[in-house]
Amino acid sequence: MSQYDYDLLVIGAGSGGVRASRTAAGLGARVAVVEERYLGGTCVNVGCVPKKLMVYASHYGESLHTASGFGWHVDAARFNWPELIANKNREIARLNHVYDRLLTQAGVTLYEGRARLMGPNRIAVAEREITAERILIAVGGWPYKPDIPGIDLAITSNEAFYLDELPQSIVIVGGGYIAVEFAGIFNGMGVETHLCYRGDLFLRGFDRDVREFTAQELTKKGIKLHFDTDITAITRTPEGDNQQGGAYQVQTDGGAQWHTGLVMYATGRRPNIDDLGLEHTAVQLTDQGTIAVDKSMRTHEPSIYALGDVTGPIALTPVALAQGQALAHHLYGNRPMDLSYQNVPAAVFSQPTIATVGLTEEEAREKYLSIDIYKTSFRPMQYSLTELDAKVLIKLVVDRDSDRVLGCHMVGPDAGEIIQGLAVAMNAGATKADFDRTLGIHPTIAEEFVTLREVTE
Ligand code: NDP
Repeated sequence: MSQYDYDLLVIGAGSGGVRASRTAAGLGARVAVVEERYLGGTCVNVGCVPKKLMVYASHYGESLHTASGFGWHVDAARFNWPELIANKNREIARLNHVYDRLLTQAGVTLYEGRARLMGPNRIAVAEREITAERILIAVGGWPYKPDIPGIDLAITSNEAFYLDELPQSIVIVGGGYIAVEFAGIFNGMGVETHLCYRGDLFLRGFDRDVREFTAQELTKKGIKLHFDTDITAITRTPEGDNQQGGAYQVQTDGGAQWHTGLVMYATGRRPNIDDLGLEHTAVQLTDQGTIAVDKSMRTHEPSIYALGDVTGPIALTPVALAQGQALAHHLYGNRPMDLSYQNVPAAVFSQPTIATVGLTEEEAREKYLSIDIYKTSFRPMQYSLTELDAKVLIKLVVDRDSDRVLGCHMVGPDAGEIIQGLAVAMNAGATKADFDRTLGIHPTIAEEFVTLREVTE
């Protein structure tokens, strides 16, 4: 009989924590999970799931508008935000129950409350102590806001999902995934949307063409992009009292002052490790403030593991899921950790959607002697009968010496669905010749990926 209450104790019931617990329990381990907030973590409650629902909701506006080109006249269309939020909340509650059932059916014990590490094999939760042979930290991240005067007046994505009413205008600060996705959501719902980014072009880390193309397309849709602009102070205006319970004035570093109905910060997320009791263990942090782990997700404390957003650097749900699955099999199924972080596909659910897998042109030029770029941009058929001035970008990055496709990039409708399939081809080592001998499905946007013949750069 083990000297511990459990074989594995997981802190955090998000994507990675739940996957690790269920898999470990399925392999015979005695598993407990501690969760202080909501089952399913960021992705289910204030991330991927509600975000995608809101992207769908927002996109209906454009679809209704362009439907007339196809003979449909939807004259009395009106949008009801509280109805969307209520429906979304019902769906999230359903998913919370699903997660509860999945854990219970797997034989995992659930404790509610905030866990605090008391040592390498011991945690405290809600005035009780629990011991475990191994502990897994899967506490995720939390929105970060820089410390400027009035920052408490600004919301983050956490609150954006629960607004009582839509503002008439919004200033979104940041130039990453969340800023760009929410700019599309609010703009699509008719909110005057301003996005401020401190650098010269948002979406740092993505392919330069993708970033420039996206900036053009978002501008065409009416989003006001302010690059090289940061906010230095936020105040509530005395006349206040718009629908959000107060209008705001923001001060930019260029000396401008803007009035807005709401200010939202999307300036990154930080590991959710405050008061976790790490000082009672040998766990160490990286320079980025994430929990340092080796290839087996093990921290500097041999009995403690960590995975998902709390470890960075790729804060994506599928990465946490893969880590949770692999770790459980490694610890309780005697399998080697066989995780690869090559060719991790990603999508930004902006409008239009960005999706990408593999290297950007800039990364490829640094790593390879000679590369070929195949690129096209065009107006897709689905807009042909409409007045919509929107285009699609498709781009392939190819190693000239080996003919291997190094990167696939797309900005346009269903980009995430299309790039997911191409990620399989990339992992299989597809060459440009493989793409060329693949027949297209006509007429689709995706067929352009297999009909690119001219090197453009
Ligand atoms: P990101 O790291 O993607 O972007 C943060 C942005 O905020 C950057 O543009 C950054 O600028 C800017 N920034 C950071 N600090 C400051 C500051 N002090 N003042 C002004 N601007 C600042 O973070 P997000 O919050 O957008 O998203 C967090 C992570 O969540 C993402 O990286 C992604 O991994 C994940 N995510 C994934 C989604 C998906 O898969 N579709 C959707 C949403 C989130 P700079 O570039 O100059 O550093």
